[in-house]
Amino acid sequence: MTLQGEIPRRGSSLSNLGIVKNGALLVRDGRIVAVGTRAQVEARKDARAVEKLHVGGRVVLPGFVDSHTHLIHAASRADEYELKIQGASYEEIARQGGGILNSVTKLRAANADALKARARAALEEFASFGTTTIEAKSGYGLDVASELKILRLQRELKSEQPVEIVSTFLGAHVVPSEFRGKVNGTERYISLLLDRMLPDVVSKKLAEFCDVFCDRGAFTLEQSRRILRAALQLGLGVRLHAEQLSRSGATRLGVEFRAASCDHLEQVNATDIGALAKSQTVATLLPGCNFHLGSKNYAPARALIDAGAVVALATDYNPGTSPTVSTPMILSLACSQLRMSPAEAIAAATINGAYALRRERRIGSLETGKQADLAVFEVEDYREIPYYFGMQRCWMTMKNGEVVWMKD
Ligand SMILES: [Zn+2]
Repeated sequence: MTLQGEIPRRGSSLSNLGIVKNGALLVRDGRIVAVGTRAQVEARKDARAVEKLHVGGRVVLPGFVDSHTHLIHAASRADEYELKIQGASYEEIARQGGGILNSVTKLRAANADALKARARAALEEFASFGTTTIEAKSGYGLDVASELKILRLQRELKSEQPVEIVSTFLGAHVVPSEFRGKVNGTERYISLLLDRMLPDVVSKKLAEFCDVFCDRGAFTLEQSRRILRAALQLGLGVRLHAEQLSRSGATRLGVEFRAASCDHLEQVNATDIGALAKSQTVATLLPGCNFHLGSKNYAPARALIDAGAVVALATDYNPGTSPTVSTPMILSLACSQLRMSPAEAIAAATINGAYALRRERRIGSLETGKQADLAVFEVEDYREIPYYFGMQRCWMTMKNGEVVWMKD
């Protein structure tokens, strides 16, 4: 599956996988030099003295681009998982100091080496499921030192292991507990964010994007507007956690600010869908959250696709609501719960994910000149990638022409 074709994919073009039967790729210096049928590629002069890697009978596709993760965190929240099963809501747990604030406490207490080791293990697992690029957000630090600690670790990990990391500053995840009891606490935290954190992140070149959790219990529309405007003025791209718990108007704000993506979208209405459809802002759906929380309220993927929005899929890997690094599992959920076709789901997790990270010229499809980032699945038919769930069918992962993971 080359995924060659329109960028980004909208509507019916989302089903176009650019399938080549008996295909081959020629890779040199980490880049794709030729792609086509095996006969076409083998007939090239420059293909005569190459090292051959046979993957016969398997399905090759671009490495997954996971455009929404919270990579660095200190621990699982399995205790809250059990409370949720017993009936406590995500917001009830948050009010009791659980949820995001629980992860913040643990992250601040954790040492950098332990955080890094945990993230590195997760990155190896991302690769084992066919993922070659991820976006990673800060947001469990929420003070200057801890936010910078997360983003610095992401930068180190980016150069020390093969999975590409795109960093996003999410200082506006929630208001940290030390500001909650204070008069004008939220405003004071926003001042810290605008006056200290954002300028530091930008001057140290620690992030490409700024994200805001614009929702009930997090930041209001007006607060989000101020934060994103400041981020844009400092040259960052912007993205939003939008309409997850309530309809806040975040999607419209994202479209107005030409956000790279609005993510979650469980609560969008018809106007939001229309606005996304007319925009370049990607609608990133995260069905792993609904699955893990046991919520039936999935985002309206069909309405978004049919209206012409650019739909992407991501894991939202995080300890509270989506503890998975498996894009194949997300594809299974997209098909069975969001009613996306297997082809639509695969395009949403590759080329449209790359578009959501503004890397569509380098990754997301198998085309001449692009990075040789690919995944090989042990299946006979591409539809078996989402069809099997919770199973390991990825056989090999290649990043920049190097095999970075292979099944025993
Ligand atoms: Zn998230």
